Amino acid sequence: MRKRIIAGNWKMYKTAGEARSFVEEVAGKVPVSEKVEAVVCSPALYLAELVQLTKGSALGVGAQTMHDAKEGAFTGEVSPAMLADLGVGYVVLGHSERRQYFNETDASVNKKVHAAFEYNLTPLVCVGESLEERESGDTVAIVSAQVKKAFEGISAELAEQAVIAYEPIWAIGTGKTATAQDANDVCGAIRTTVGELYTAEVADRLRIQYGGSVKPENIEELLSMEHIDGALVGGASLEPASFLKLVEAAQ
Ligand code: 13P
Repeated sequence: MRKRIIAGNWKMYKTAGEARSFVEEVAGKVPVSEKVEAVVCSPALYLAELVQLTKGSALGVGAQTMHDAKEGAFTGEVSPAMLADLGVGYVVLGHSERRQYFNETDASVNKKVHAAFEYNLTPLVCVGESLEERESGDTVAIVSAQVKKAFEGISAELAEQAVIAYEPIWAIGTGKTATAQDANDVCGAIRTTVGELYTAEVADRLRIQYGGSVKPENIEELLSMEHIDGALVGGASLEPASFLKLVEAAQ
């Protein structure tokens, strides 16, 4: 049985006070559970405080991006070593917004996946197609190529500890969700790709999230699908009540 994982991606939202009060309200209410893992991925500025506030709770803390180098002259960047030192457990890599606005490529995502494992961070590796690619029938080819490149040189032992987030770009922040069946078909194709890269066992253990306009109203149907093991959620993760409903639905 794969443990479900619900991750909130706050993107560039919340002041320090808002981040603090969210976590103060939510951390104690996240169930310690065999079935579900809950994570909030906050702006880097708040990670140190959120790690402290969530100590002893079942709420994990993740970063939204990082550099691949341990340290260096990279003004403005945050390194995997810094995240690990704070006690951050997860990092979102290759989000489509990073690919679109910050020149992240399959090659840079691959370097970051290596770096995440080097520092014991669980990578949430994002893949997904644009509307144009979907309409031309290229979804599976695009997404499976992204997965292959992201995992280049990663051992089977590490790969199965990663999480892949399938986020169709056209469904992010648009209110348009892929149908549960469509999302499941692509997540199934991702699992097949992982099986080809590694083994059927690795494919069976690796967790795949769906992301893109996930809300309390549609999460149950998404989670009822065979290949969907959780969700990476933007807008609906910003309010404590909504985030907790998402976690509850995965219980
Ligand atoms: P929304 O849930 O706001 O559509 O965002 C999805 C997303 O990009 C999560 O990483």
